[in-house]
Amino acid sequence: MTKCKFCPRPLNNPESQRRGYGEVCGRRRGLIRPKPRRARPAVPRLKPATVPPAPDALPGQTELDLFHHQPTLDSI
Ligand SMILES: [Zn+2]
Repeated sequence: MTKCKFCPRPLNNPESQRRGYGEVCGRRRGLIRPKPRRARPAVPRLKPATVPPAPDALPGQTELDLFHHQPTLDSI
């Protein structure tokens, strides 16, 4: 029984026996080209969820709610 030259596993595949190493070892070492992967069905990319501002976040000035006692340019 032919054994893989990289690992102790026996080579059952005639192609592997001819090469002297198994498919797995050959792939791992880059000696065998990787199988063309079957194209996966395209998964639509999800947009990141909008993140609500943290409750303690300081909003921009324009986002500040005016308090009833807060002076504005018009009230000065
Ligand atoms: Zn091997």
